[in-house]
Amino acid sequence: MQVTINESVLELVEGDITSQDTEAIVNAANESLLGGGGVDGAIHRAAGPELLALCRAIGGCPTGEACITQGYRLKAKHVIHTVGPVYRDGRHGEAVLLASAYRSSLDLASVHGVRSVAFPSISTGAYGYPIDQAARLALRVVIDYLGEHPEIELVRFVLFGQPAYNTYERALVEVLTA
Ligand code: ADP
Repeated sequence: MQVTINESVLELVEGDITSQDTEAIVNAANESLLGGGGVDGAIHRAAGPELLALCRAIGGCPTGEACITQGYRLKAKHVIHTVGPVYRDGRHGEAVLLASAYRSSLDLASVHGVRSVAFPSISTGAYGYPIDQAARLALRVVIDYLGEHPEIELVRFVLFGQPAYNTYERALVEVLTA
């Protein structure tokens, strides 16, 4: 599914973030930046050991913030590493932190002249954020950002599996008609 926001494209696809040909892909990292499972493990496997060495040198990233590295063996030239919140009960600032993770990633893309960005569904795997809520929030933040930042030409959400894709598709219809 694809919609246009001003001149920019917002796209939902089902697939694997590591094979995307956008200028940057976003990693759902943890605060240590030292690698983990899920998206993070897949990105480090595909990018090669130089990525982990650079992440170790960076030394970490607080929840809700982001940092940028090269993509090494990936098709994407850059990896934007961001840390979403661990979901507890929704009363510990999770929504603010998740919005901040998306916004910080987009800000870094803008600053570095990155015109196309692929996101995974941040925090909805090991970090336990309910995916329907996370999807609405993520899409709202991205739509607002694209409305103000025409320099980002494409944001693609790469959803892992059909259920995740369907959830994002429903959420996008809800957000656009709200
Ligand atoms: P977090 O720790 O932020 O929850 P995870 O990596 O555990 O991050 O999961 C985030 C989401 O990414 C989950 O919905 C998971 O199904 C999905 N995912 C896992 N591997 C991939 C991949 N290779 N490409 C895209 N999405 C993925």
